[in-house]
Amino acid sequence: MGVLPQVVVIGAGFGGLSVARGLAKEPVDVTLVDRHNFTTFQPLLYQVATAGLNPADVAHPVRGLFHRQKNLRFRQGEVDGVDWEARRLHLAGQRDLPFDQLVVAVGAVVTWFGVAGAADWALPLYTLDDAVKLRNHILGRFEAADADPSLIDDGALTFVVVGGGPTGVETAGALAELVAVVFRRDYPQLDVGRARVVLVEARDALLAPFKPGSQRHAEETLRARQVEVRLDETVAEVTEHSVRFSDGDVVPAQTVVWAAGVTAHPLAGKLGLETTRGGRIVVDADLAVPDQPGVWVVGDVGAIPGKKGDTLPQLAPVAMQSGAHVAKQIGRELDGKPLRPFRFHDKGTMATIGRRAAVAELPGGLRLRGTLAWIAWLFLHLLYLAGLRNRASVLLNWAWSYVTWDRAARLILGAQPERPAADALTAPHRQT
Ligand SMILES: Cc1cc2nc3c(=O)[nH]c(=O)nc-3n(C[C@H](O)[C@H](O)[C@H](O)COP(=O)(O)OP(=O)(O)OC[C@H]3O[C@@H](n4cnc5c(N)ncnc54)[C@H](O)[C@@H]3O)c2cc1C
Repeated sequence: MGVLPQVVVIGAGFGGLSVARGLAKEPVDVTLVDRHNFTTFQPLLYQVATAGLNPADVAHPVRGLFHRQKNLRFRQGEVDGVDWEARRLHLAGQRDLPFDQLVVAVGAVVTWFGVAGAADWALPLYTLDDAVKLRNHILGRFEAADADPSLIDDGALTFVVVGGGPTGVETAGALAELVAVVFRRDYPQLDVGRARVVLVEARDALLAPFKPGSQRHAEETLRARQVEVRLDETVAEVTEHSVRFSDGDVVPAQTVVWAAGVTAHPLAGKLGLETTRGGRIVVDADLAVPDQPGVWVVGDVGAIPGKKGDTLPQLAPVAMQSGAHVAKQIGRELDGKPLRPFRFHDKGTMATIGRRAAVAELPGGLRLRGTLAWIAWLFLHLLYLAGLRNRASVLLNWAWSYVTWDRAARLILGAQPERPAADALTAPHRQT
C-alpha cells in the first residue's frame, strides 16, 4: 500500500475527538495534536473549582482513548502557525507536521470585554488549570478570613460571579452550597453567614438561551439559596479587593469569577483564514474553509452556519456533531463522492442550579424543572464523560456528596508558604 493521506487534527476537545474517532475506519493516517496530553470535560469544571470533583475526574489522557485505533497517533504540542503552500503545520519548538487534510478544532478562549482590571484580577473558568486555581483561591480566602476575620470587611468572603449563563448559574449555585453547608462545618469559629455570593448578569434574565419560565425558576432558586442576583448590571472595573458595577456601586470582593463569555481561539487569526468579527473562522455549509482545499473547521472556533442562516452556539453538541460530520466529509472526499451540508440536531439544553435543582428544555416542547431535570442533567453528563474510570469516580463522588453533604476535594494544592508573610494575604490572585 502507498503512503496514506495525512490528516492532522488540531485540538483534542469535543470536536477534535469526534473527528479522530470518526476516521477510525478510513484509509488515512491521523495525527491528533493538542497542547495538553489530556482532554478536558469543560461542563464539569465548575465542580472542580467548588471542590466537588477532583481534576482527574473531568480530564482523560488522550493516548488512553485511542489504544485500539491503529491509524491514529497523538502529538503533544502547541500549534502556532502554518505554511499553506508547503502544507506544513508549525508547532512551537518541534518539527513541522505535514498534512494533506487539516481539521482546526482549537476551541475558544476567555474574553474580558475590555473591562478594566478583569484580566489582572478576575479568575476565568475555562481550563483545568483555571478550575484548580479557582479552588485554591476560594479555599485560601476562607483560611485567610479564619486567621484574621477583619479581612471579611475587605471582601475576603465575597464571591462575585460575572455572567448569568449556564456556567455562571452553575458556579454561583455550587458556591452557595459549598459555603452554606460545607464551610459552615469546616470553620466553626468564623462567621460564615457573612459570606456573599453575587451573580451579575448584563441582561434582564439569567440563562439567556432558555425560555422565560426556566429563567425565572433559576433566578428564584438561586435567590432562595442566598445568592444575590443582580440583573441588568455590568461590571465596570475589577481591582484586587473590589468590584465596581456600572451603576457606580463598589463592593469589596477578593474573588471575581469570570464566566462572562468566550471568544474564538487566537490561532484562528494566526492561520490567516477569514474570520468573523467575533474571531471565528468562516466555513461553508459543508464545514470546509472556502478556497482552502482539504481544510475543515469544527466546534467553537468555527462560525458554523445553522439552518436559518444564523451561527450555531459554542456548545459541546455542536462541536461533537460537526466533528463527526467532518470525519465523514473527509471519507467522502477520498472516495470522490460529493460533500454534504452540515445539519445540527438540537437535542435540547439543560443547566443545573444546585442540589436537586436544574432546568431542561427538550425537543417537542418538553420542559423539566427541579429534581427530575437535575437527574436528567446528572445522567447526561455521566454519559458524555470520557472514560469508565472517570464515570465511576464522578458517580461515587456525587453519591458521597449527596448522602453526606460533603465536598471531598477541598485541597489547596501547589506550594504554600510555611507561614504566610503579612502581604501574602493580599497577593494578586494570579499567584495562587
Ligand atoms: C466552564 C464551561 C462550561 C461549559 N458547559 C457546557 C455545557 O454545560 N454544555 C455544553 O454544551 N457546552 C458547555 N460548554 C461549552 C463546551 O465545552 C464547548 O462548546 C466545547 O468544549 C467546544 O469543543 P471544541 O472541540 O470546539 O473545543 P475544546 O473542547 O475547547 O477543545 C479545544 C482543544 O484545543 C486545544 N488547543 C487549543 N489551542 C491549541 C494549539 N494552539 N495547539 C494545540 N492544541 C490547542 C485545547 O487544549 C483543547 O484541548 C462549557 C464551556 C466551559 C468553558
